[in-house]
Amino acid sequence: MSRALIIGGGIAGISAAARLAPHLEVTLLEGENSLAYHASGRSAAMFLLNYGNATIKALNAASADHHHNADGGVLSPRGMMMVAGPEHADAFRADSADLGLDEITMEEAARLWPILNRQTQAHAAYREDAQDLDTDLLIQNFARSARAQGARIETGARVSRIERLGTGWRVTTEAGQVHEGDLLVNAAGAWADTVARMAGLGPLQIQPYRRSMARIALPQDMSPAAWPFVDGVGESWYCKPDAGALIVSPADEEPVVPQDAWADDMVLAEGLARYQEAVTQPVTRMLANWAGLRSFAPDRALVIGPDPQDATFLWCAGQGGYGFQTAPAASQLLADLALGLTPALDADTLRALSPARFA
Ligand SMILES: Cc1cc2nc3c(=O)[nH]c(=O)nc-3n(C[C@H](O)[C@H](O)[C@H](O)COP(=O)(O)OP(=O)(O)OC[C@H]3O[C@@H](n4cnc5c(N)ncnc54)[C@H](O)[C@@H]3O)c2cc1C
Repeated sequence: MSRALIIGGGIAGISAAARLAPHLEVTLLEGENSLAYHASGRSAAMFLLNYGNATIKALNAASADHHHNADGGVLSPRGMMMVAGPEHADAFRADSADLGLDEITMEEAARLWPILNRQTQAHAAYREDAQDLDTDLLIQNFARSARAQGARIETGARVSRIERLGTGWRVTTEAGQVHEGDLLVNAAGAWADTVARMAGLGPLQIQPYRRSMARIALPQDMSPAAWPFVDGVGESWYCKPDAGALIVSPADEEPVVPQDAWADDMVLAEGLARYQEAVTQPVTRMLANWAGLRSFAPDRALVIGPDPQDATFLWCAGQGGYGFQTAPAASQLLADLALGLTPALDADTLRALSPARFA
């Protein structure tokens, strides 16, 4: 049986392990002491069918059935609303069309989201089928499936050396463990280009961008549980309920080097001010904050499949802001390409995801 080594224990690597394990001897190596420590532990946990460019939308659609049904499903109702001030009417119309939102009256909007400030906001649009995605459960489901089919998942195993052998790869961890495989899957998130360089292959300009999040308190007499995910027009901020509080993101996109990201106080303050303008409830207390890296290829589509210079090196990278919602289809595609099977996605989508598009 052929052996596959996977570098990275976020949603990309874990879902790839689950898809490959029935067919190959799989070893996943994660540098941190726990899985999903970086981007995959810091997301907004949404499944938005129309979020992303046309290629991402195709992956979202192809992932929907898995998210709804596999292992009992990971989705629950949330709804998505966008609001805009009177000066942003054109952007509001364009974003609504892109995200598949229907315009609603301000009365309806205030009924769905009681803290809406109708003095400053003039437009609202909504779709009901936006869902919360239980990211922990999705990771557990893929990890359990991978292990049940024989995959080895090792944490605290940071790969520091990669050598090309005659027929495959040898990787060495910082602790000196050596692993060999016929295929090497690069699911290293923000470090995808670092791993490619280690393997002697060209970087694909996968750029990490920091995105921050604040968890803010709401008055005890408010019950936000049924409020929608709300987006400021132009993705200028967004918020959603979280266990009696609200998480608010400035929707920042600061390019950074790969790192353990932290939120910047000024970015949080400016983002909370943009959010504050749209609501009647003042921000009184920040309960926590964090940041994660969303790592994009230049054209903002994922990079899935064999490297053009070496087909035994497979990219599973560039998940950007869509790594959870696209994971079922992206991991299936990765496995189909690794195993020489015909993928279910259409030819245009395959081309748009292929690492060869940068060659
Ligand atoms: C604030 C925020 C909100 C988001 N909201 C959503 C959302 O609502 N819906 C959605 O679908 N997506 C969302 N995302 C995006 C999503 O979180 C990411 O796309 C996804 O987590 C990326 O997964 P990954 O496995 O590629 O990367 P990561 O989770 O970062 O995993 C990569 C792993 O590789 C490991 N690694 C790197 N180098 C090595 C090495 N040399 N040896 C061993 N291990 C190595 C790292 O330690 C890391 O754990 C959001 C992201 C952020 C930051």
